[in-house]
Amino acid sequence: MVTEQQEYQLLERFLHYTTYDTQSKLGAKISPSSPGQLKLAKHLQQELFAIGLENIEVSKNAVVTAFLPSNINKNVPTIGLIAHLDTATQCSGKNVQAEVIENYRGGDIALGTGEEFISPVHYHFLHKLVGNTLIVADGNTLLGADNKAGIAEIMTALSILKEGNLPHCNIRVAFTPDEEIGLGMQFFPLEQFKCDWAYTIDGGEVGELEYENFNAATAIVTIEGKNIHTGSAKDKLVNALALACEFQQGFPENETPEKTEGKEGFYHLSEFLGDVEKVELQYLIRDFDQESFLQRKQFIQNLVIEFNSKKQLVKPITLDIQDSYKNMYEMVKKVPQSVELADQAMKKAGILPYHKAIRGGTDGAWLAEKGLACPNIFTGGYNFHSKHELITLEGMKNAVEVIVNLANLAVVDK
Ligand SMILES: [Zn+2]
Repeated sequence: MVTEQQEYQLLERFLHYTTYDTQSKLGAKISPSSPGQLKLAKHLQQELFAIGLENIEVSKNAVVTAFLPSNINKNVPTIGLIAHLDTATQCSGKNVQAEVIENYRGGDIALGTGEEFISPVHYHFLHKLVGNTLIVADGNTLLGADNKAGIAEIMTALSILKEGNLPHCNIRVAFTPDEEIGLGMQFFPLEQFKCDWAYTIDGGEVGELEYENFNAATAIVTIEGKNIHTGSAKDKLVNALALACEFQQGFPENETPEKTEGKEGFYHLSEFLGDVEKVELQYLIRDFDQESFLQRKQFIQNLVIEFNSKKQLVKPITLDIQDSYKNMYEMVKKVPQSVELADQAMKKAGILPYHKAIRGGTDGAWLAEKGLACPNIFTGGYNFHSKHELITLEGMKNAVEVIVNLANLAVVDK
């Protein structure tokens, strides 16, 4: 379905997007957190215009939205396609030197001229990619396939639908900033982005389809001590650090991120800040199941109550729990067509869908909370957020086909 010419355009698009430094900046309060994101947004605006979309808008916060009305005269659904402009904070995205390796022969891949390399010894998936066209960075930066591949795939699919005049549903497109620092949806024009359901094109390996993620909360435990000169401390000094260590012992040993996988939840001690006078412990609480998520929050509350009654501290320890995001499945299960259609679109492209639970959150989780079901579809990439990031042109082509099929099958279905 994707012609050689279209494949070339897909690659060119992606390579061009990687030249924009859109790394999001930790600690930013407002979007976009880096100027490159707005530059890329403006470039995408022109491209959407050239393809022939309508109502194209770029907000000052670098949110790009556009609309492609259906080309058939029927009552058809409206589907949203979403990808993010920014790249991860963990790794530089400046001066990305993408390298295209045609017909990968297997074995180690040297990145640029430095010491970094990618080896099938560490990354077993490379064995499956022999014969593919790989795209990697030069070992100094990430590649930016997360999520510029998603943007290139959406763009290419739109242009295929438009050029071939293939029957398709109404399509809304959004490219958003700062997904990686959780600010992406701060200025999202949800009111104008009216869809029956949507997809983020932000997953990894070919076939991935994700519509479940963690319920997430952050708990801050504050412990106050009393500092006295150690020489005269007997019966007076209260060491907040020692109390914090003792408090931490109350958690189940095996319910941590390093000891869980799949759909298992956990408590994660993510920060331990302080001194004898005062300690702040930060815990991430994660669970797929709503009921056991509530139990986990209750567990910490009980732990604090018990600790306080056991220790009889002058200043009892305090707890503050804030919810971060919810499992999108609560919303997705109300719109089962969103998953069914993605399954069909993959099968039509000859891809076996692989349903996977996200051990994290996505912009889709935020949208789901606001009432828009938004599963996540693969981009074809690997090793996101790292200098070892890579993607295959074949995988990107697969994603394009899936998007085209989605838009087409949505019409056939109705
Ligand atoms: Zn992403």
